[in-house]
This record gives sequence, C-alpha cells and structure tokens, in this order.
Amino acid sequence: MKYNFGAGPCILPQTVFEQAAKGVLDFNGLSILEVSHRHKDFVAVMEEARELVKQALNVPKGYTVLFLQGGATLGFTISAINMTKGGKAGYINTGTWASGAIREAKLVGVDVHVLASSEDKNFTYIPKNIEVPSDLDYLYYCSNNTIYGTQFQETVKSNVPLVCDMSSDIFSKEINVADFDLIYAGAQKNLGPAGATLYIVKEDVLGKATPKFMPTYMNLAKQHEKDSMLNTPPVFSVYVSMLNLRELLATGGVKAAEERNNAKAALLYGEIDANPLFTTNVAKEDRSKMNVSFVFDEKYNGLEEEFNKTWQDAGIVGIKGHRSTGGYRASLYNALPLSSVQVLVDLMKDFASKKA
Ligand code: PMP
Repeated sequence: MKYNFGAGPCILPQTVFEQAAKGVLDFNGLSILEVSHRHKDFVAVMEEARELVKQALNVPKGYTVLFLQGGATLGFTISAINMTKGGKAGYINTGTWASGAIREAKLVGVDVHVLASSEDKNFTYIPKNIEVPSDLDYLYYCSNNTIYGTQFQETVKSNVPLVCDMSSDIFSKEINVADFDLIYAGAQKNLGPAGATLYIVKEDVLGKATPKFMPTYMNLAKQHEKDSMLNTPPVFSVYVSMLNLRELLATGGVKAAEERNNAKAALLYGEIDANPLFTTNVAKEDRSKMNVSFVFDEKYNGLEEEFNKTWQDAGIVGIKGHRSTGGYRASLYNALPLSSVQVLVDLMKDFASKKA
C-alpha cells in the first residue's frame, strides 16, 4: 500500500484509474488512444468535459471553457498576450510560478509592474493590502504556491480584469468565477493526467487584446471559435479529466471536496503545531490546504535521514520538499483520503515519542 502525497502529477481517484484503464482497452470498440479526435465519440467527450467544468465551478453564462496544451508554463504567455492592450499589467510575485509568469510576460513585451512580492522572506507568506492601480490592463496572481505551501485565502480584490493561475488549487474549494476574466490551470493536480491545460475565459475578453504577436494556437478567441478543437487536443488527458469530473460531481462536487480538504489540512497542521520535532516556515494565515510545507525544528535537524527512512518504509511517497526549499511538503489534493493523512500524522507522532 502506497500513500501518495506527491505535488503533481499526483493521486487521482482509484475508480478513475480503473475507468481510464478500461478506456485504453475499449472505448466503443477502439482504444481511446487510437480514436480520431474528430470522431463524434471523442467530440462528445470534449463537450462533456467542458460542460462538467461549468457545473463543478458554477461557471456563469458568458464564459468559455477550453482544454489546451503547453502546461501552465505556456499559460504564462497565453494569459499575457490575450490580456494585454499595450498598457501596464500588475503582477503579484509569490514565488517560482508567479516569477515565471512575470518573466514570460516581459518576454512578449508587456509592461510588467510587480505590485507586491514576498521574496524578502523566501516566499513564505502572501503579500497583503495590495494597492491595485486602476489603469492596469490586468492584474495577475497565482492562487496557490505549490512549492512554498502558501495560498491566497481570499480572491484578490481588483477593479481591473483579474487573471489567475489556479494550477494547484482549482476544484479544491469553491470560487466565484465571475470575479475573474481568465483562469488557467495545468490538469495534473485536481483535474486529470498531465497533458491538458484548462482555461476558463470571459467571452468579453476574447479578441480585444493587442499583443506584439499572436500565434494562432495561443489565440483564445480562435480556440473558442473552434470549440477547443483547433488542432488535435490532448485526447487522453481530456478523457480522464472528464472521468474525474464525473467522479467529483458524484461525490458532492467542489463544496464537499472543500470540506474534506479542510479536515485533512486541519489534521496535518494540527500535528505540525503540536509535534516538538517539526515546525513550518509558512505564515499561519497563509497556509495552503493543498501543499503543506514543514521542516525539522532546528534542534532536531540531525534526524532527517532516519525520518526519511521511516516514512519511506511505511509506504509514504512524495513528501520530500521541492529542491529549492528543502524540508518536507505533503500535498493533500482532492483524491487523497483523510486516512492517508492519518497514516502520516501517526508516523510523525510515533517518531517524536521515540526522539523528542
Ligand atoms: N503554476 C503552478 C501553480 C504550478 O504548480 C506549476 C507546476 N506544477 C506550474 C505553474 C507549471 O506547470 P506546468 O508544468 O504544467 O507547465
């Protein structure tokens, strides 16, 4: 038995793996891997996946849902060139992924203004009380910082068009899509296998940007016109995302997932706070419910190797911190059951009772 706390690609529901495996062997007589993306059976999958995203997030009328490629990394560029009108853009720098978006926006000639940053404390907190100038083309932020374990607890207040990278917390909690003009997220956390990148875009935005260049593939207006089928889509990733969205809706939807995620995070942070061996560098009010970052208290640093062997022997996978931060990071994505968190918490307790 393995307990997968990996940061992404990551755990998905076992039932989804089983259905996906069946689809590889038999999808209406063919394999899902060999069916034409123009065949009506796949077109139906794409349409259902787009529709289920709308249901899961209560996407209001006037928004389009697209499944594209390139990962969230291409989203850095796609968001910039589809939102710029040649003026200033505001960015909040909360770490590696937000910095990547800043870098790529500059590369395509956007006049980037970093309005706030938490770089002074190695991105262990979320900047507060951010002043948003009213003359921005758009404001950009990353809702959950996968590497550091920080998360915006509220949507950033903005009177300019709002763009958000939700790669690592989409579908984990309720959001009000109407607050945003453009949301995007790599599939490989709470949605499905790596390959697809989800875009949720206000239709009013489409075709209004004036970037210095606009490759056809990256033009969201064209992608919308073609119903997310401008070229061959990531067929398997879309198929499994559809299966996973069905499962999400059948198990109470995003609201129920949020309640389960709150319970998992409370259990693990409770242990980190109570356990003398461990601590976290992340500001308490900014703790992520998806990626829980923790370290050994300085006094106990020498115990890392022994602890690593202990959790590996217990079947725990993927809690080593990102190479840029060290320490530990346990990701609590939707598909991870509370019982897996309990296994980790019991192991931490037991280790402390022997060592503290
Ligand atoms: N943004 C966030 C918040 C991420 O967690 C990641 C990576 N998991 C990325 C962007 C980059 O995503 P990708 O590897 O899909 O390009």
